[in-house]
Amino acid sequence: MKGAERFSIGDYDCWTLADGELTYPGWTVLPPEGAPPAEITAPYIAMLVDTGSTRILIDTGAGALGPNTGKLPESLAATGFLPEDVHAVVLSHAHPDHIAGVQLFPNAAVVMMRKEFEFWMSAETQARLEACEIYGLGALEVVMAASVRDHVAPARDRLRLLDRPTEIAAGILVFPAPGHTPGHAAVLVSSGRQQLLYVGDAIVHPAQFEHPEWVCAFDLSPEETVRTRKQLLERAVADRCLFAGFHLPGGLGAVEARQGVFRWEQAVGARMNA
Ligand SMILES: [Zn+2]
Repeated sequence: MKGAERFSIGDYDCWTLADGELTYPGWTVLPPEGAPPAEITAPYIAMLVDTGSTRILIDTGAGALGPNTGKLPESLAATGFLPEDVHAVVLSHAHPDHIAGVQLFPNAAVVMMRKEFEFWMSAETQARLEACEIYGLGALEVVMAASVRDHVAPARDRLRLLDRPTEIAAGILVFPAPGHTPGHAAVLVSSGRQQLLYVGDAIVHPAQFEHPEWVCAFDLSPEETVRTRKQLLERAVADRCLFAGFHLPGGLGAVEARQGVFRWEQAVGARMNA
């Protein structure tokens, strides 16, 4: 996916915003049961919601993390909005691919769960990442530690840290969806009779709809990841939410359950608009 794709939730205008993509060793994305290929290229897709009075960006992209990342500013430009027009930035979590764009939005409050902020900023976590002790992912852990220091810490004055599910603007609910990281958050966008559930990295690969028990190397707590994922999937099916995720193809789709098995259908263009 390239650029910005517009869709609507009730009265709200929304856009998926491509930030680019990154190629990972397949084993870091899917477990052995998933027979991962040697490499998996994951899309990076943020989301902009315009309620009419407030513009909220959900996740900010990876900046210079990879050779094909950091395209969020040009995708935003395609919507006609300027970075200064964004009132709030929601960070689903503090991994490097989600936080590198924070400083691009000078007027935005930076919203995240307090638990997430405190985990990544703690001296203990920083030291363990520097020692590559948390994930078993080698030098990438040093990148994670630096990324938090470089992108989240400087936004301290603009931080809005949440302790519980919070409606940060009319119809924009940010709530805990832990497991991938300790303070990982999801976002429910509601307008009129439509809802969109943005799950961040609670699901990182389309195969995890059919196999919600498949965790990836970046899921800090496997059990909590699976529990949260199933809850999000069940909620999306029960409430007929559009379903969005930062690493899902096209960033947007729908989920349904047939005989207890979840299935993902990617949205194409505006096809899923009611
Ligand atoms: Zn991610």
